[in-house]
Amino acid sequence: MILFRSTNGQAPAVNLRGAFHAGLAPDRGLYLPEKFPQLAPDEITAFAQLPYHEIAFGVLSKFTEGIISNRDLAILCRDAYHFPIPLEKIHDRVFLMRLDQGPTASFKDFAAQMMARMFGHFLRDDGRPVTILTATSGDTGSAVAHAFHGVPGVRVIVLFPIAEVSESQRKLMTTLRDNIRTVAIDGKFDDCQAMVKRAFADPDLKHIPLSSANSINIGRLLPQSVYYFYAASRLAKPGEPTVFSIPSGNFGDAMGAVVAREMGLPVKKLIVPVNDNDAFPKFLASGHYDKVVPSRNSLSNAMNVGHPSNLARLVAIYGGQMDETGKIRKQPVLTAMRREVFSTSVSDARTRAAIRDFWTKYQLLLEPHGAVAWQGFLDWLAVEPLGDAPAVIIETANPAKFPEEVEKVVGWPPDVPPAMAAAINLPEDFDRMDADYGKFREYLVQRHAA
Ligand SMILES: *Cc1c(COP(=O)(O)O)cnc(C)c1O
Repeated sequence: MILFRSTNGQAPAVNLRGAFHAGLAPDRGLYLPEKFPQLAPDEITAFAQLPYHEIAFGVLSKFTEGIISNRDLAILCRDAYHFPIPLEKIHDRVFLMRLDQGPTASFKDFAAQMMARMFGHFLRDDGRPVTILTATSGDTGSAVAHAFHGVPGVRVIVLFPIAEVSESQRKLMTTLRDNIRTVAIDGKFDDCQAMVKRAFADPDLKHIPLSSANSINIGRLLPQSVYYFYAASRLAKPGEPTVFSIPSGNFGDAMGAVVAREMGLPVKKLIVPVNDNDAFPKFLASGHYDKVVPSRNSLSNAMNVGHPSNLARLVAIYGGQMDETGKIRKQPVLTAMRREVFSTSVSDARTRAAIRDFWTKYQLLLEPHGAVAWQGFLDWLAVEPLGDAPAVIIETANPAKFPEEVEKVVGWPPDVPPAMAAAINLPEDFDRMDADYGKFREYLVQRHAA
């Protein structure tokens, strides 16, 4: 059985189920596998013939051994992944992978869909209902709400900043009802996150079983390794290393690629571009880590993260230790990190220009997050040769989520995918609250009693 240990090194190792339910380790570190399970080269080669959900099974079964039976896991995977994953040719062996065809049109559906099913599975075993509490700046809340909608024994409460979430993002959460409650906070995303964190630490709420679904949870991370295997299985020859460019905020998506690589996927380079929140590229260059406080607002708003929580995991992979405040307790091996990882900061001006140039040159549409990935790839090409290696640029959201930006650049609004169009016309239902923790605690107590 695979055990998970905390990046802070002060908590006991736990199994997948324990890591899943805890989210954060008791020493405030993040869980990582003690040892990464390995996929043999011929297992990876065999993925070329398999549909996505069977690749998901092949990867995730290495972690669920002794926790979820293979028969049950196969059903969860088939059930979770039933949407297309387009790989569009940009030029030569350079491809765009669109992870935007799930129920809420962002890559966060990949993790949320699987995590909800695993939660449901664990609940069937031990029957204790849970309340999932999450703060969102948009995409996480809608992906989590959709994934958990109708899962028996789970209640979801999503907090979002009323003025910082777009109309389509809001409607993807507020039109669901049933076991999903959404609370609009008169405040900023940081206020929502602070309220959720206080609730988790509040002794007066100990009688309410709370759980989290944010990107610190290992249950979010593992499913995000699968699409790297998928892309390579379609584009790389057996054993051939692939380049990936991953637009990064909290670095959960990038950590998915690291997990894949640690399990045996041949990777030539991981490109992890960020927007104006440039703490990581500066750290990679200098070895000094200064989080960006407060975080900077950029076009790629799902990446407005001043202190990416998953950096603690990345630093641990390279033999270092970073605590939850961003303090480096032990320096990672920077030479190895630089050899394998490239990062760069892409401004809003460069993001807009990338959307325009990409459209002009290839007639393919990007939204701001994918544009950061593309520009990051170009920045890397300026310093290292690609050769004839395959490369995959990750597009993490549907252009229809950013209609104004896309229209400004290419002159027309993007098509709205059916899942989003349906939500636009449904009636909304959400609660509204000041950014006041006392009121929020009262709300949680009342809802729990109801
Ligand atoms: C969350 C998100 C990202 C950033 O992913 P991280 O795992 O936080 O690095 C990028 N693009 C979109 C559209 C997102 O929703």
